[in-house]
Amino acid sequence: MENNGFKKLNLSDKVLRAVSEIGFTEPSAIQESAIPLVMQGNDIIGQAKTGTGKTAAFGIPAVEAADPSDKSVQVLVLCPTRELAVQVTGELKKFAKYKKGINTLAIYGGQSISTQLKALGKGVQIVAGTPGRVMDHMRRGSLKLDNLQMLILDEADEMLDMGFREDIETILAETGSERQTVFFSATMPKEIMQMSKKYQKKDRQVIKVEGKNLTADAIEQVYMRVRQKERAEMLSRLLEIHSPRLSLVFCNTKRGADELSDALSAKGHFVDALHGDMSQQRRDSVMNKFRNGIIRVLVATDVAARGLDVDNVDAVFNFEVPQDIEYYVHRIGRTGRAGNKGKSFTFAWGGEAGRLQRIEKYTKAPINKVNPPSAEDVQK
Ligand code: ADP
Ligand code: MG
Repeated sequence: MENNGFKKLNLSDKVLRAVSEIGFTEPSAIQESAIPLVMQGNDIIGQAKTGTGKTAAFGIPAVEAADPSDKSVQVLVLCPTRELAVQVTGELKKFAKYKKGINTLAIYGGQSISTQLKALGKGVQIVAGTPGRVMDHMRRGSLKLDNLQMLILDEADEMLDMGFREDIETILAETGSERQTVFFSATMPKEIMQMSKKYQKKDRQVIKVEGKNLTADAIEQVYMRVRQKERAEMLSRLLEIHSPRLSLVFCNTKRGADELSDALSAKGHFVDALHGDMSQQRRDSVMNKFRNGIIRVLVATDVAARGLDVDNVDAVFNFEVPQDIEYYVHRIGRTGRAGNKGKSFTFAWGGEAGRLQRIEKYTKAPINKVNPPSAEDVQK
């Protein structure tokens, strides 16, 4: 712990101990810039690529700021998806491990409201939730934000993409102007700057961690020309040839995800699907199995997989080229995280190839064409 690079950020002993125990030894660039500014009480906008540790950049200051002797909600983190709210809460709990009396709670749609009401009633200082369910609790009076010190928007660009703008603005408008407001995002569309002007203090700081390109450098990206009807077979071959420990496959539709999951399962892969039509319980169970390696291939839609951080995803497959360029960036950002290497494979045909070219231009990272694997390649 003596040599831990987080020491220079003036963390309390309790939080520093927790951070060391998690295994973080050096703060990432965004953490090094953002943590001191947030701890000093500044409003900030932090922009850095996916997988660069934005959660801890706000999570550590959030835990430092929370006062265990006060049982009211002091920090609220807004997240785009249920899974992300759960994941962020998990990280916050780790940072707060030695800070006794700090309670953290995820609130999101799909989970029974009474469970959440009971937990909120016990006194929680840090809440991470999706905008819809947060609003719901505010309306019921079960989430009181009179003592809110810090409001954090995590993955702000994704929340806007998902149509949460109105909910977010309502929450921002109803939580008083004294609170500290912190935005984190992988990209910085102009709507975020507009919201910042409207709801953050004038002396807010903008932190941008520039990378050479938009996608993590540790990801090797390739594409192959494959017709739609041959894709399940090609994917199965690629999985056998590369045998990634965990891989994520993206489909453009929920139905496509279900069908592909069934097809891969029939070919003997340990696979399941994750999309918005599944019950929350089912989604939680699939995610747990994936994290534990019981399922090794997860076939997901974009919305379901937003912001997910699962260790050891070493390959991402785009079964189809996404409509939206930013989706591509988010998809492949699920691998190559925290200094690990990752690989992405994209199937393209016809018009998809042109879309992929535009993506390549935008991200400024090469997506190299390779040949699809032959049946013989699998035997080798
Ligand atoms: P982002 O929100 O920027 O996409 P995350 O906060 O999800 O990134 O972090 C990505 C991964 O990096 C997580 O597994 C996290 O535990 C790990 N991580 C974050 N900060 C550090 C650090 N300083 N040292 C090592 N690993 C880190
Ligand atoms: Mg994040």
